[in-house]
Amino acid sequence: MIRNLLVFIVIIVVYYSLKTVLRSALKAYHEEEPNAPAARLKGEEMVLDPECRTYVIKDRALTRRFQGKLYSFCSEACAQRYEEKHRG
Ligand SMILES: [Zn+2]
Repeated sequence: MIRNLLVFIVIIVVYYSLKTVLRSALKAYHEEEPNAPAARLKGEEMVLDPECRTYVIKDRALTRRFQGKLYSFCSEACAQRYEEKHRG
């Protein structure tokens, strides 16, 4: 009887670990969309803040031009920090 119970427990453990592995594998597969844009949230375009590496909604981002290139920032503080680092 005890042996049967042990086998039963092992089967359950194996079943749940397989299920977890499969679920995470499927999740990874679905998240990987090669042709999708870098980041999108509810149809809003996201831009990367190069200073703090945060994605910001484009409409709310602070845009600054450095050396002829446009950069988007989450805040004035980040824009200033970035400018100080890349000046000269
Ligand atoms: Zn920032």
